[in-house]
Amino acid sequence: MARTFILALDQGTTSSRAVLFDADGRMVGMAQRELTQHYPQPGWVEHDPLEIWESQWAMLDEVVRTYDVLPAEIAAIGITNQRETTVVWDRKSGQPIHPAIVWQDRRTTPICEALKDAGLADYIREQTGLVPDPYFSGTKVNWILDHVAGARARARRGELLFGTIDTWLIWKLTNGAVHATDCSNASRTLLFNIRELKWDDKLLSALDIPRCMLPEVRDSSGAFGTCDYRGAKIPILGVAGDQQAALFGQACHEAGLAKNTYGTGCFLLMNTGEQLCLSQNGLLSTIAWRMDGRVQYALEGSVLIAGAAIQWLRDGLQILGSAAESEAMARAAGDSEDVFVVPAFAGLGAPHWDMYARGAVFGLTRDTTREQIIKATLESMAFQTRDVLLAMQADTGVPLRTLRVDGGAAANNFLMQFQADILGVPVERPQVIESTALGAAYLAGIGAGLWNPEEIAARRLLDRVFEPQMDEARRHVRCARWQRAVQRTKGWLAEEA
Ligand code: ADP
Repeated sequence: MARTFILALDQGTTSSRAVLFDADGRMVGMAQRELTQHYPQPGWVEHDPLEIWESQWAMLDEVVRTYDVLPAEIAAIGITNQRETTVVWDRKSGQPIHPAIVWQDRRTTPICEALKDAGLADYIREQTGLVPDPYFSGTKVNWILDHVAGARARARRGELLFGTIDTWLIWKLTNGAVHATDCSNASRTLLFNIRELKWDDKLLSALDIPRCMLPEVRDSSGAFGTCDYRGAKIPILGVAGDQQAALFGQACHEAGLAKNTYGTGCFLLMNTGEQLCLSQNGLLSTIAWRMDGRVQYALEGSVLIAGAAIQWLRDGLQILGSAAESEAMARAAGDSEDVFVVPAFAGLGAPHWDMYARGAVFGLTRDTTREQIIKATLESMAFQTRDVLLAMQADTGVPLRTLRVDGGAAANNFLMQFQADILGVPVERPQVIESTALGAAYLAGIGAGLWNPEEIAARRLLDRVFEPQMDEARRHVRCARWQRAVQRTKGWLAEEA
């Protein structure tokens, strides 16, 4: 019998993955390679676009060969990616003119200040759903055009192309034939008008970015060209930013459904349906996806540093052998609840949006142990998630009944139990924790006519549900102390100005 597979390419911040799914949406296999992180200056984070491409291509090849799949059996490729990370390359040579500036990078803080000084903050919020923060691509493009000699003139002449990682991968996979992005990725650039669904001339002009370097914006499920792979022409039929893909993969297809992904950062997204909902509480409005020309919107709260704080314990402080070990270490810390870690290493995201905040550890005493610091770091992911969730509930007026979770750190049972405890709602972990890749595969599979959204929602399988166990009084005390800790990290750098 003929076999059919969908291949999802999941280009994340810390690694490139290729994941194979069968025609029933079951995960068949995965190949993964870590990506080198470059930190040329404090607050700067870069990736090598060629390493991104080469690792992604190598993983595609590895997973197909390892699981004995024939190129002709792959019905479609779906792409999902770290969002906002910015690449500018030469249209002719295909060479990037600068390393990719990663979403975490803070170098464009002064450009964001200039946008605010120009009175554009409200316009940005209302038209793009975002806020003037270095996180998004637009100011990064402006920085590259300003800092690479001759770049702006070349861009004006149409010699340079801009893309987020999806666009870069599509362009490479199609051998330069397609320069396109999907609505979800476009909505993260600070350049896309999410009401009118087109690039915004006022913002392009404010950031001095020539329109000819921008990709064409397409449906998230639809045609993005074909990739030549060992004699087969495989269509790329699904594209979405990683968080939107995870929302789709978790079957949050209707207004009111929400998921949280615990990766390098933490991302809480709630589907708000076909209505754009602007936040009064510091959350972002974004496009979830566009299918058949119809847009679904989402509210999003981003925690900038989540799993990255565990990486810091492992690689920076070196008090942890592996990320997975953090679970046993946190349990070994016992009942102590005195230590609070606020990992504001790159400022604070939603709902605080303070780019001048910096991290701190509170409650240290002579007998504080490394286990307690590890436990408090895990807890910080759950506390930050709670802050975002409260803001989301205030905006929508809809209390969350359960939280759907995924991402690398969602494997941590200590963290998931603490999350349920501190929220007071059940936390649902699906069997396929790779919701991001799954979402990209679903979008591509829908594009290929294999599935429809109703079947996908009906097929959702849970691994484990964590029920809240903490009593209300204790929850209240712990949350109040967390709030105090967060307040004390705010404005740390601004005080020097
Ligand atoms: P991304 O897609 O952003 O690269 P992943 O979803 O792969 O991230 O998750 C990796 C992140 O999760 C890393 O920052 C890592 O430190 C953290 N992590 C992975 N496993 C665990 C675990 N068992 N406990 C806590 N954190 C973990």
